[in-house]
Amino acid sequence: MATALKRKISRRRVGSASPAAARNSWKKSRSAGIEILKSRALDKFPWLVHGFTARPGGASKLDGKKILNLGFTDWDRRENVLKNRVTLLRALGAENLALVPLRQIHSDIIHVFDAAPAEAPRGDAAITRVSGLLLAVQTADCIPILLADAKRRVVAAIHSGWRGTLKRIAAKTIGRMQMEFGTRPADVIAILGPGIGRCCYEVGPEVVKQFAGQFAGARQWFDGPYDQLATGEEQNPLPWLTMAPPGHEPPPPRAQLDLIAANRAILAEAGVRRSNIFASELCTACRTDLLFSYRREGPRTGRMMAVIGLLNE
Ligand SMILES: [Zn+2]
Repeated sequence: MATALKRKISRRRVGSASPAAARNSWKKSRSAGIEILKSRALDKFPWLVHGFTARPGGASKLDGKKILNLGFTDWDRRENVLKNRVTLLRALGAENLALVPLRQIHSDIIHVFDAAPAEAPRGDAAITRVSGLLLAVQTADCIPILLADAKRRVVAAIHSGWRGTLKRIAAKTIGRMQMEFGTRPADVIAILGPGIGRCCYEVGPEVVKQFAGQFAGARQWFDGPYDQLATGEEQNPLPWLTMAPPGHEPPPPRAQLDLIAANRAILAEAGVRRSNIFASELCTACRTDLLFSYRREGPRTGRMMAVIGLLNE
């Protein structure tokens, strides 16, 4: 009895950060020939629709395989992408919703929609309180974030790569929800979808320096020579002492950045309860069988979509 109780408490303390809990908080749904990852934390609301798409299935073809490319890329045909978007709506049972994508520019520009725009505006986050819109962000390594204020029924979709993370786009989106609709951060559920993991996301000194300048706790989000890169001491002060001839110096050292950890911290700092933040454990670069990774595959890859919307009553 005492042991069982202790186990229960310790498990709760680990919370959603433990791999088992993280796996348990997700479900895979297969429909219309494609796979969609859903968070159980959002799936329980009957008035809400959401999902994170994966690679297999769809009308696009890359290296002889059918893939669900949802972004307009050079190698794919526009009609395939449009077909894939229709498939996505069908798979979600959201045929009556209007898909609202953005022209993403790694900014902190946030749009509040009360109707579908005629053309996708430039920006990296979208918010709505009206039903019938399916907000969408496209990614292939960057972190897609979906937010839901279950009390006021406000939802948001965010694209957060290293630039968006540095600009705290997730916190700014919550601020905007607060301002426009009275959202309380403690009522917000945040889902961080698959992006490039700490295992694979190498960045140079220019990125490390900017994070060090913006966040007191940035060190925890990096592996590698953080201090060396953050302080700019990566250059050999006496290059003439090295044996390497000019042009043959070793490449500058790099560090690995954990965008999920950074965005978790930014959301928590904005007032979201840690127990209301759920993150995928899948790394896009490790799992190109299931996802798209621009870093790993280059321009010949697709785009996934993270979508969220309020269903028509
Ligand atoms: Zn990885």
